[in-house]
Amino acid sequence: MYGMLTADRDLARAEIGTVTHFFADSVDGTRREPLPGAVNSVACWGDTATVRDEPARAAVTADGTRATPDAEGHDWGTVCPTDPDYRDKLLERLERVGAVGDVRLTTPGFPGASFCHCERCDREFAASDHEDRDTWRTAVIADFVAAAAERVEGDLLATLYPDPYPGNLRERAGVDPGSLAPFVDGFVVPLCGVGYGTTYWVESLARGFAHELEGLEPELTIQLSADGVDPDRLVGLTQQLEAHADAVVYGTYPADADTVKDVIRRVREGDTPSLTV
Ligand SMILES: [Zn+2]
Repeated sequence: MYGMLTADRDLARAEIGTVTHFFADSVDGTRREPLPGAVNSVACWGDTATVRDEPARAAVTADGTRATPDAEGHDWGTVCPTDPDYRDKLLERLERVGAVGDVRLTTPGFPGASFCHCERCDREFAASDHEDRDTWRTAVIADFVAAAAERVEGDLLATLYPDPYPGNLRERAGVDPGSLAPFVDGFVVPLCGVGYGTTYWVESLARGFAHELEGLEPELTIQLSADGVDPDRLVGLTQQLEAHADAVVYGTYPADADTVKDVIRRVREGDTPSLTV
């Protein structure tokens, strides 16, 4: 199955491919009306606007580093996943979006291995049955995804950070695909690159995820970028991924629409481009 991911409402309605992922809520804090019939993507705790307005809500490390766009290794702000008011509002939002179409969760998880050590997280971990902090974090995220699944009528997809090395997602983000599998219908892995001058890493990561998710029911969607990518390269890359993924979606700006349409037509027809790598 092939489709696209876009924040452009008109383009999203153009029905390029079989499935369209639409950015309803982005990590910068932008909120858009969800689009009927699309897979509406909702950023979970990635929310730069909230963190900018209320810095105390940001996830924090034991040494006091807050998850803001200025912090090293962070491109956006991240609210602490145990913030109860934020969690309630997020679930309400998911219910509203989930009444319109399928839902994709983006940034579900803690923003790094050293998060979160706010007073509330320390307290909740101490009061929990878990002796290991990673296990506690994994339970926090799985509980949230289970609650989200109850509120979404259609399919629920969860985005995974592109690191399939066994145990790494758990350590990084508190995300354990096996724990989420009972509640989601699919996983989405973004493997975006500028121009894809090399493609071996995309195939390697996709293969890694295919192994990591083996035996789990949810389907695997790989997200690629189309911006400025040579169409032949995109066709060849997509064909390399077909053995590992159930679906491919292309991040698409209006200017790339014709390219993506053409790439999807060519992969469906089994066109073989002559790649000069
Ligand atoms: Zn916290």
